[in-house]
Amino acid sequence: MRKFHAASLSVVSLALLWLVFLGGSCQGTSKSDDKIGVVVTILPQVEFVQNVGGGKVHITVMVPPGADPHTYEPIPSQMIKVSEAQMYAKVGSGVEFELTWMGRIIEQNREMLVVDCSKGIIIQEMGEYNVDGDNGEYRQGKDPHIWLSPPNAKLMVSNICSGLIQLDPQNQAYYTRNRDEYLEKLGVLDEDIREGLSGLKDRCFIVFHPAWGYFAREYDLEQIPIEIGGKEPSAKDIADLIKKAEEQNIKIIFTSPEFSPRSAEVIAKEIGGRVVFIDPLAKDYISNMRLVLNELIKVME
Ligand code: ZN
Repeated sequence: MRKFHAASLSVVSLALLWLVFLGGSCQGTSKSDDKIGVVVTILPQVEFVQNVGGGKVHITVMVPPGADPHTYEPIPSQMIKVSEAQMYAKVGSGVEFELTWMGRIIEQNREMLVVDCSKGIIIQEMGEYNVDGDNGEYRQGKDPHIWLSPPNAKLMVSNICSGLIQLDPQNQAYYTRNRDEYLEKLGVLDEDIREGLSGLKDRCFIVFHPAWGYFAREYDLEQIPIEIGGKEPSAKDIADLIKKAEEQNIKIIFTSPEFSPRSAEVIAKEIGGRVVFIDPLAKDYISNMRLVLNELIKVME
């Protein structure tokens, strides 16, 4: 507990120092310039908002690099940013951070426009990943990872654009033009993924955290998660996964930076394969998705 307080205090004093610095260098904080303060939950949304809002927005992300949106708790300096913002773009698909904190975030700033990025997106169930098929006990509820399908990303970007226009109708033409340019890039990405994966015979991959359900559905792949219901797998789960990997000739286990790769390494060693990091939360959305595509092609060809 003591450690936690010390850490929060130093973060607060850092934030204050930063405010003092900003005050000295450009006369005032974000409130006093013309930019719209936008808060987002996860890093991929930073790219979405940046591409539509351009030079007219200030962006604050709640779940920082390396943190897990299933468990992250905001720090005081972030709540200060919330109180100064004009818009909160929530993912809206049931990300735990939002389920836990959205109420308090809205309480912090009732004037703020809350944009639901998931508007128009059909939220899927988490698959029933049950490797040996003897029962269906692994139902995990709704899958929050909507942003990992580029067609969903397009809808999220359009929802963000509508929010910015609502707040700043004078610049509607600017936001619309930016949105259309970025949507075109997302369209090219979508086509490249479709084309890149079209020839693959083996369409199954193992991943530690099941973040790639929407991606897998969109491109006709199968994601086999190691983690089940947010928990490390049991010895039997691992044995079942190894069996399945051997049957399907899977040699690569994907994992992401915020999770301990231990069970992934155990499985990789057993099947004579290797662990590859792919990040479902990278800020550079399009270039990250291209990296993921390249890894998948390398692995599955
Ligand atoms: Zn997740």
